[in-house]
Amino acid sequence: MIELHNVSKVYPNNTKGLNNINLRFDKGEFVAVVGLSGAGKSTLLRSINRLHDISEGEILIEGKSITAAKGKALRLIRRDIGMIFQSFNLVKRSSVLRNVLAGRVGYHSTLRTLLGRFPKSDIELAFEALERVNISEKAYTRADQLSGGQQQRVAIARVLAQEAKIILADEPVASLDPLTTKQVMDDLKRINSELGITMIVNLHFIDLAREYATRIVGLRAGEVVFDGPVSEATDER
Ligand code: ADP
Ligand code: ADP
Repeated sequence: MIELHNVSKVYPNNTKGLNNINLRFDKGEFVAVVGLSGAGKSTLLRSINRLHDISEGEILIEGKSITAAKGKALRLIRRDIGMIFQSFNLVKRSSVLRNVLAGRVGYHSTLRTLLGRFPKSDIELAFEALERVNISEKAYTRADQLSGGQQQRVAIARVLAQEAKIILADEPVASLDPLTTKQVMDDLKRINSELGITMIVNLHFIDLAREYATRIVGLRAGEVVFDGPVSEATDER
């Protein structure tokens, strides 16, 4: 479960990213966060896994405050949260397998991962993850030789190998064509229903949100202007 209590984020240049947000996400939900560019969708996701500090309020992950956590406690909370980005964020010149193994970094000492030594069980997990998104035949291909849709599936495999319980996806299909968009969204939906991973997905288009999510959160100017089941969402954004 994820809880946001009175969360505000003001950027150093005084721009308000989020303004007094209260939200709760339950385990296994598939939530689409919608809103125009600048509404605060990315700020919301970056706040949840603390890619940046919030200015006010508190965020709890499974009852633990990620806002106050430090050091090892913070690393342990973060291990449960996987992130997927619009631009895939893979290490371009590394193999697909190595990119997926990056999901295991939080489970080992820094030295071990710097040297690229992962136990056999991690390699198995990585292949299992690649199979789940149907791309294991590319394990030894360089990431930058894949299409955009394939790269996004590798990024999904990376968070699966991480054994994340929550996936935060920031406009995961914004740079993909319609067919690839469908494949990636289908993968996210399948992972959500098969593994019970909580899915919070920022989307530009309400149509996609309607098709895949069970709940829609609408943001405007850093505030929640809609929060409800898909059936109640109108065309207004
Ligand atoms: P969205 O993801 O919905 O497009 P963002 O969360 O990126 O919205 O942005 C919310 C608001 O915060 C916007 O006004 C944006 O300009 C501002 N913002 C986002 N990132 C930064 C930043 N690093 N520094 C200053 N302002 C930012
Ligand atoms: P590199 O670019 O270093 O060759 P690879 O993608 O080939 O990276 O391998 C990533 C990691 O997985 C390395 O630690 C490698 O030793 C290990 N590895 C690769 N293939 C296998 C395999 N079939 N069985 C066990 N470990 C493997």
